[in-house]
This record gives sequence, C-alpha cells and structure tokens, in this order.
Amino acid sequence: MGCTCDTCQSDHPYDQRYRSSAIIESDQTTVLIDTGPDLRSQLLRHGTEMLDGIIMTHEHNDHTAGIDDVRPFNFWAKRDIPFYVEQRVLDNLQIRFRYIFEKSYSTAAKLEPHSIVPGESFIINEIEIVPFRVNHGTLPILGYRIGNLAYITDAKTIPPESMKLLEGIDILIVNALEDRNHPTHFSLSEATNLADSLSVKQVYITHMSHRMGRHLDKQKTLPSHITLGYDTLEIEFTA
Ligand SMILES: [Zn+2]
Ligand SMILES: [Zn+2]
Ligand SMILES: [Zn+2]
Repeated sequence: MGCTCDTCQSDHPYDQRYRSSAIIESDQTTVLIDTGPDLRSQLLRHGTEMLDGIIMTHEHNDHTAGIDDVRPFNFWAKRDIPFYVEQRVLDNLQIRFRYIFEKSYSTAAKLEPHSIVPGESFIINEIEIVPFRVNHGTLPILGYRIGNLAYITDAKTIPPESMKLLEGIDILIVNALEDRNHPTHFSLSEATNLADSLSVKQVYITHMSHRMGRHLDKQKTLPSHITLGYDTLEIEFTA
C-alpha cells in the first residue's frame, strides 16, 4: 500500500499478489493450507465448492486472519471442518478467535480441531500428509509433504530431521522474500540452495515481497527449474 516501486505499479497479473495460501485437490478431496486475510477472494476466484480439511502452517495473521470465511463450507458440507494444527497454534487461535472455538456464537465458523505433531502423518480422505518442522526465525512452524511435493512457507532454517522427511521429493514450493537476507524468511538464494541440496526437479517460489521485482523480469534471470509462483498457478503432482 502506498508504494510506487516498479512491482507495485505493475499491472501484469503475475504481479498482483494475494497473501500466501494453497489448495490441494484430487477428484474426491479438497484440502486448504492456511486461511490468510485474502481467503474469501481467493476461494471465490478459484471456485472452491467444498473443503474436506484445513491444515495450518502457523499462527501469524497473514496465514490465519481469514478463518471466519470458511463458514459457507460448514453450510454446504453440513459438518464441522476438520482443522489440523499444532497445539501451540491452536492455543493461540483459541484466544484470538474465542467465539469460534468456544462455540458460543452459533453462526461462527465450525472447526473440528485435530492436534498434529511433526513427523506423524495424517490422512484426509485418501490424501496422506506429513507435517515437518521448519523454523521461522526462532518460531517453530510446520511445512507439509504430500507425496512427491513439499510446501514450505515462512521458513528461515530447516532442521536435519526434516531434511530426512523431504528426501525423494520432486517438487518444492518454498518461500523467499527477495535477494537480501532477512531474519525470519529465506532469501532467494537460501531457498534455491535448499532446493539444490534436496535435488528437486522443480521449485516454485512463494511468499515474495515486492522487492523481488517484477515477475517477468526476475523470472528471466533464473534457471528453468526455478519458477516464481503467481496467483492461480496450478501444479500437478503425485500424492
Ligand atoms: Zn513496492
Ligand atoms: Zn509468518
Ligand atoms: Zn507469512
């Protein structure tokens, strides 16, 4: 807001970025990763009709503030939405969104919390999901592996036990703010170094700052296996 830099002034659709989120879809199942402040616009744009589960990376507002807007899916599914979250994050959300979790307001979003821990997989319908630890500066948060794909956002370092859980992935979605160093997020080179050390075939960068530059200009400077993500990008993978 209020910025006059090249990226913020760009009218190219790839430079119009909502807050980071992703949706995993199979023929039968739809799973949402994070409920940021742009959730309503994102799900309307995507045409999402059902949510079988929500998995959360961490408690920061840019990943949680849209949580109220899952209410229509309670109505369509006639059930509470399974909500997979670390206990610390759940405790935090129960304070900030007390009316949801106390069930004191009958038309609030209805979530069915499941406490998850790194390294212990869980299944939503037929999709197996492996949560793994990543460090967002000093805050321990979660990344997720689904089949040959891993989704990491807001990471700065990856502990060795998580590198083990990531062995054999082909596709990595990973955060990078920009070229410069940052205390709690990967820089672009830190993100691509991670991808190199995992020998992944394709990397998609997410959670970018305007300081990354215009999408088309920056993409030209990168090798072909590194793609800057953009809103509405779809990726096929094997769960
Ligand atoms: Zn800007
Ligand atoms: Zn964060
Ligand atoms: Zn974030």
